[in-house]
This record gives sequence, C-alpha cells and structure tokens, in this order.
Amino acid sequence: MDRLKSSWSPPLAIFPHLARECVRTAAVPNGHCAVPIPPHNAQPRRDRRAKAENGLGGARTLRGHARRGHYQKGWISGLSGTNTAHADLLLINGRIWPGGPARHMEEALAVVGGRVLAVGRTADLMPLAGPDTRVIDLRGRTAIPGFNDAHAHPITLGLHGTRIDVSPRAVRSIRDIQEKIRAAAATRPPGTWILAAGYDDAHLAEGRHPTRDDLDEAAPNHPVFVTRTDLHMGVANSRALEAAGIKEDEPDPPGGSFHREGGRLTGLIVDNAMQRVFAHVPPPTVDDLVEAVAWAAREFNRWGITSVTDAGVGLVSGADDLLAYQAARQRGRLTVRFTLCLLADAALGGRPTAPAALEAGFATGFGDEYLRLGPVKFFADGSASGRSAAFSRPYLDGTSYGILTHTLEELTEQVRRYHRRGWQVAIHAIGDAAIEQVLDVYETVLRECPRENARHRIEHCGYVQPAQLERLGRLGVLPVPQPVFMHIFGDGYLRHLDEERVRRAYPMRTFLERGLKPSASSDAPVCPANPFLGVYAMLTRKSPSGRVHGADQCVDIYQALAAYTSGSAYTTFDETRKGLLAPGFLADVAVLSQDIFNASPDELLATEVDLTLCGGQIVHDRLGETR
Ligand SMILES: [Zn+2]
Repeated sequence: MDRLKSSWSPPLAIFPHLARECVRTAAVPNGHCAVPIPPHNAQPRRDRRAKAENGLGGARTLRGHARRGHYQKGWISGLSGTNTAHADLLLINGRIWPGGPARHMEEALAVVGGRVLAVGRTADLMPLAGPDTRVIDLRGRTAIPGFNDAHAHPITLGLHGTRIDVSPRAVRSIRDIQEKIRAAAATRPPGTWILAAGYDDAHLAEGRHPTRDDLDEAAPNHPVFVTRTDLHMGVANSRALEAAGIKEDEPDPPGGSFHREGGRLTGLIVDNAMQRVFAHVPPPTVDDLVEAVAWAAREFNRWGITSVTDAGVGLVSGADDLLAYQAARQRGRLTVRFTLCLLADAALGGRPTAPAALEAGFATGFGDEYLRLGPVKFFADGSASGRSAAFSRPYLDGTSYGILTHTLEELTEQVRRYHRRGWQVAIHAIGDAAIEQVLDVYETVLRECPRENARHRIEHCGYVQPAQLERLGRLGVLPVPQPVFMHIFGDGYLRHLDEERVRRAYPMRTFLERGLKPSASSDAPVCPANPFLGVYAMLTRKSPSGRVHGADQCVDIYQALAAYTSGSAYTTFDETRKGLLAPGFLADVAVLSQDIFNASPDELLATEVDLTLCGGQIVHDRLGETR
C-alpha cells in the first residue's frame, strides 16, 4: 500500500482542486466556469503506446489517457513516477459498457481512490491486484456507468416514503383512497393532519379527482390533503380548507386556482394556491428531512443511480432542505451525489432558497463531488396532464390555455440577476407558450450579458415547437426532458391534448439529432425513480395500455443509456467526471441483473440492479455477494 500511496497521491490530490477552481471562477460576474474540460467526446480508445508505457497490456489507464492529451494540463501535472499502482477494487469478467458514444464492451475495470484507474481485458488488469485489492467477479454480468437522474425531488420522494401512498401502484379507485385515509384517521387524534400523495385521476376507476366530500366521508374530523402525482395540485377536505382559512368565495391567487362546481369549492387546489394549505401543515423537522434524504438515497442506489439533481431545494421546507442535505452528508447518509438546484420563486408552496445564496455571493459550482450547488430554479407553467401547462393553442376543451406563472418582464428581471452573477438557470416549462417565454428570457439576458457555456436549462421542455428547437441550439439552452412521462402519462395526455401534439412531445430523437444534449430523469416522485422505466420509454414510447405515442421519436439502447448518464452529467458541468467508465472518471457503476443490450424492451423492464458503486464504494448489494 505504501507503494500505492507514494506513486499515486499526487494525481489524486489535484482532484479537489477542480471543485475549488469552479467556485472561484463561476462567481465572477459574466464569467464562466474554468474547469478544464476535455472534448465532450473524450472516450477510451485503443492505444498501443500505453502498452509499452504502463506494462498493462492493452488497458486504458489514467496515466495513458492523460498522455494522449485527453485532459488538459491541470490533470497531468501531478502524474509522475514509474511504479505500477495497485487498485483498491477490480471488477473482472464482466460486460462493461464504457458509456458515452461507445458501442463496445470492456471486460474489467480497476478503481483507485474512488476513480477509474483503468479499463480493459481481465488478463490485462489483473497485474493491478495487490494484497489489499478487492476483486469482484462479475461472472459475465453487464455493468454500466451509474445512472444520473437530472431532475428529481429527493426530499419529497423520501417524505412520500413516510406518507400515505395513493399512487397507481397502491390504489385503483377513490374508494381505495378513502379506505387508506379512514385507516390513518383511526390511529391519529382528531385534528391532526393526514397527508397522502401520488394519486393520478387518469388511473382511478372513477376517472376523476377525489373531492372534499370523498375525503370528508373518510375523515370528517381530520384535516386531509392529498397531492396529485404531478405535485401541481391537490385535494383538501373541509377540515383542511377550514384550517387554511380558505372561504367559499376565496379569490384565486396569481398563478393558482381553487376549483368550484356550482359555486362551491370542490377541494381541488392548483399550483400557487396550494401554498395556502401547505402554510398550515406542520413542517417536517430537519431530522425528518435528513431521514427523507437518506430514504431517497437508498431508493436511488437500489436502481443503480449514483447522481441526482434536486430540482427545487426549498420546495419542502425552505432553507431546512439545504440544512438537511448537509446534515445527511455529515452523518454519513449520502450515498448519492446530489446537485442542488435552489428554488428562486415561491412556486408550489415552496420557500425560495436562491435569493439568500445570491446575496451571499455563492454561484453554481460551489461544493464538492457529493454535494454541489447547481442552477437556480423558476417555474414558467404547470403540468400538461393537469391542464396547467401553458400552450399557444387551447386544450381539447377549446377554451383553456394553461397558466403562465410569471409575466415576461418579471421573469426576465429575476433571471437577469442570477445570470449576471454566474449562475446557471433552470426554468420549468412544459407547454409551447411557456417554452417560448423562457427562450425569450434567455435570449434577452444572453444578449445583454453574453456568457459562454452558461448551459441554461429548460426543465421538461415537453411540447417544443420546431422553431424553438432551432433557438435551443443557437442559445446553447439544454432541454431537460423526462422521457418516462410518455410511458406513464402518454394516455392521460390524450384526455386534454390532440394526438398530434402528444405524438411530438418529449422528442428525444430530435433532441439527439440536433445535438441538443438531452439528459434523462424521472422527476421522482412524479414517476418512480426506476430508470429502466425511462429507458423503456425512450426505446418504445409505449403506455402500459400498449398504445405507442410517436414511434418516430424512439431511440436505441445506447442512446437511451447515454442520455441517462453522460447526457445528464453535461447538464451539471460534470462531463469530465461522470457518465463514462474511463480513466480519471468517478468510479460510479451499476452492475445489472441481466444483459440489457440484448434484452427486448419488455424484458428490460424486469431489470434489477445487483450492485451499485459510488466512488468505488459498494452502496447497494442486492444479493449480499460482497458481504
Ligand atoms: Zn420536477
């Protein structure tokens, strides 16, 4: 081990420098992140010289990679000495997909200091095994770079783990929801809140939202609030409306609404109006939030996910969300790398965390490889299935166009402040009218204050028009789509939108062909964290009913996996660290229960993850094979 230390401590010591460098430069007004970035297509290639230099046969190593100039100077300055290092960990006899544009498999992978040291044939890498090296025989199993979920809500997902589950997985009807609420009410003193989450009216036997009366029937003496799967609306019972002080003639707040039938509140509350209810629900403590983060991290690990962007830190408990991540880190509960997208507006009942961070001089990039500040987050509209996404043409009812959360002027003014201070900006926009507004905002701020490589994002970017695709490319704005929506919500969209619009929604193939660098994500708990659902959706665009929504937008398995790994890494400026199993990259790996490259899409849905490695550490072991 001494030999390992003396030979390899210099290169490892330079890695933290990357994060520091990013912080220092990203905060400069108008500046951009100066992290040394190799070409995006950096990938392992056969190099015969490496064989002579490192004595490792045809293996690609960190040192060989650097010598070929795939990394800029900062990466290779610390590389010296001639000793061959021992690996901390070797994965051998596998079918290892190196990620990115690669369409070949490697057999073995060596890890040192949490990073990939080398990839190649088993025989070539075995010399890296020393007395302390852990060797895991993959026995022919498939391994891929750890999944990277570019847009999820980990704390909400974790809290849902403790809330009453009324998702389509758990209930089939409003009657089922009532039973679950009734059971909860029986165990809690009258007056205490009952929170349930995840219902989808499209999947309920009654084909409608629950009403306050449905919930009153189940729990007349408890305030009850049941949120819909898209998190953009929820249903309150009479006690909850009363507790929140919402009167029958309550005016709608900007960007939200209280639904009524015959002049009476139905209990259904949309978007910004939900804040009125959340303000009266006792908030979770920081400890509750830490447990939620830890619960979510375990859930992500179970699915081979090693990096996640929290798409709205502050949505649950304001600044406590941020505290919870830090506490989870300190308590050793973070087994996923989180990029934190700070909430910049008070949408969906959240409390903004971005303004204070801006004020204090932070910017995108601050942090380290486990916890880092990402973009700031705004909302431009709602959801398509909830008919609150903003469209230029009406929904099928012929009269509603959805809701724009901000005026153009207001959103531009807000975004401008962050853009000028070096922040990446992420704006939720689903309908084409919202996407248009966001592109107008980005175009204005980029013209006023040009910033190279700002990588501003459009979260969801679902119903994008052809002319808008051109603008995305020209402005370097990244779509951050959830292809899994086409699988889970595809049929539901048709209740409100014409077939033509649904067929062209979330166009992964077009995004790829136009070089727009799409990522992939689950929006969990809006959809399950399981990335194989998203991969399946990218391959088939098929609903559980068997209906296919736009077959011409299907992509192949390599493209789907690349979107979910290196594509997502690009959205957080991590393409030199994540998404490839190549020398120098973080050793974040998922070992799968089956060969997904040769499985049919339907077979692929049954994939489980046997092992998940984050920084070379085993964070999930389904079969207990390493214990
Ligand atoms: Zn979201």
